[in-house]
Amino acid sequence: MSNIISLDSDTISISNGLTAVFIDVLILAGSRLAETDDEKRLIVWLAEKDQSKVGMGTVGFDIREMPWNIERFEESRRFMLKTVELACNKTDWDNLDYIPNEELLFPMLNKFSYMLSKLTAKDVDQNALAGWMADADLDDPVKNGFPQCEKHSALLSCFGCHLCNN
Ligand SMILES: [Zn+2]
Repeated sequence: MSNIISLDSDTISISNGLTAVFIDVLILAGSRLAETDDEKRLIVWLAEKDQSKVGMGTVGFDIREMPWNIERFEESRRFMLKTVELACNKTDWDNLDYIPNEELLFPMLNKFSYMLSKLTAKDVDQNALAGWMADADLDDPVKNGFPQCEKHSALLSCFGCHLCNN
């Protein structure tokens, strides 16, 4: 089984195991880099793609559905591109208790970066951010100052720490 990450005809088909690694390294890099709420929300949204909680092979997504802030789209996109770059530079990989297979992982990250570089503000789902925030419970990390895991320095989602869970 696998998960599909897509933007129009561009797709990444990624095995369940590698998906967890892909999300882990993006969370580590993004948690290190994120400063604004816009940036933290994008990483927490990715952290919700937690197969240990929602089921294996169920976390594929279209990058237009990410909680982009349309008014600051370019800054947010630059942040995500930088996050992927930092992930490829193995940012905070010493927080992982395993060693990612770079040969499998890096082509996926590079394709994700390519897809992000093609995304434009008008492609984005205009209601994604507001809808996602409206669905979040009052005790959700996105409404409570964006706590991070003490062990992994990873931004937490409503499911806890993606790295602890996986
Ligand atoms: Zn953790």
